[in-house]
Amino acid sequence: MSHRSDTLFQLALEKGAHGQRLEADEARALAAVISPDRLHALGRAALANRRRRFGERATFVFNLQINPANICGAGCTFCNYAASRNDAHAYVMSEEEILAKVAQLQPTEAHIVGGLNQVWPYERNLALVRRLRAQYPGLHIKAYTAVEIAYFAKTARKSEAEVLAELKAAGVEALPGGGAEIFSERLWRQHWPNKVGPQEWVRIHQLAHGLGLTTNATMLFGFGDTWEERIDHLLILRQAQDQSGGFACFIPLAFQPGEGNFIAHGPTPLETLTVVAIARLVLDNIPHLKSYWPMSGVETAAAGLSWGADDMDGTISEEKIAHLAGAPTPKGLARERMTETIRMAGFVPVERDGRFGERKREG
Ligand code: SF4
Repeated sequence: MSHRSDTLFQLALEKGAHGQRLEADEARALAAVISPDRLHALGRAALANRRRRFGERATFVFNLQINPANICGAGCTFCNYAASRNDAHAYVMSEEEILAKVAQLQPTEAHIVGGLNQVWPYERNLALVRRLRAQYPGLHIKAYTAVEIAYFAKTARKSEAEVLAELKAAGVEALPGGGAEIFSERLWRQHWPNKVGPQEWVRIHQLAHGLGLTTNATMLFGFGDTWEERIDHLLILRQAQDQSGGFACFIPLAFQPGEGNFIAHGPTPLETLTVVAIARLVLDNIPHLKSYWPMSGVETAAAGLSWGADDMDGTISEEKIAHLAGAPTPKGLARERMTETIRMAGFVPVERDGRFGERKREG
């Protein structure tokens, strides 16, 4: 390890722990040499940063994943969720099934994403949002990735701004962060060439911010990406946030290889925690950082709270995407188990609403 690299690493930790902005070379130094003593120092700095922002609180939301259909021909190499119409694991939900789920579970937040298809085209999704809003005025509707927005615009012959404005008027309040994958032209061409690439993804999110919608941002890692590409992803997001300011939460997604995929193993728990910690130190302007247990596992996600995360996603029922990709995690986490998990990890569980405010329940 060079003296310069060591100096930059120490400086990055010190600044990051105090919530100060890291220069790009300092951010890169965080991942330059990963060794046990560095990992320990990195985790401590991320925890100090997290405590400055959130104290001992760790939030979660009672949400319902709605994945209306998994039919999709985009052919992303890492996707075990998508199906052709005749595949055994193809499914299409009806409006009535979706509304019955919402009626049964009464979630705080509905998270709607699906594949790119004409079974559930734009107008049908728009009508679904209108029905949900009419029946559940208080429901936080977080719906449709940038990838779906681009597809809706293309197939409905509208601009992305028109689609976003219509969805907002119908009741969408936020966009989920999926489809970003990793901001690497190299990996985009190789793994998801048929859907929007890094620049388009950022542009659509900034369009949404301009219309007053908040959005999340994800990063898929552990499928052949490099540390340099991960740090670049974080720096691109930070710059975009400086410009448009609408990102509410960043969610690192540990790749789940699934059966027969092109890579045998996803990232180790320690690698996942390292990504969480570096994200906490680099993303000084995106308020929240989520531990996404459906992909990392409940234990690693809970440990992520000590490595910089302040939110655990969520009490989800029937999440399909990670599970069709082979995730061995449970399909839903009840509220009681979520609060117990957060307590066991040493934090104070706080149930939140869709905008990260506290959700008070009666009784
Ligand atoms: S990742 Fe999304 S766009 Fe790509 S194949 Fe899967 S469902 Fe389709």
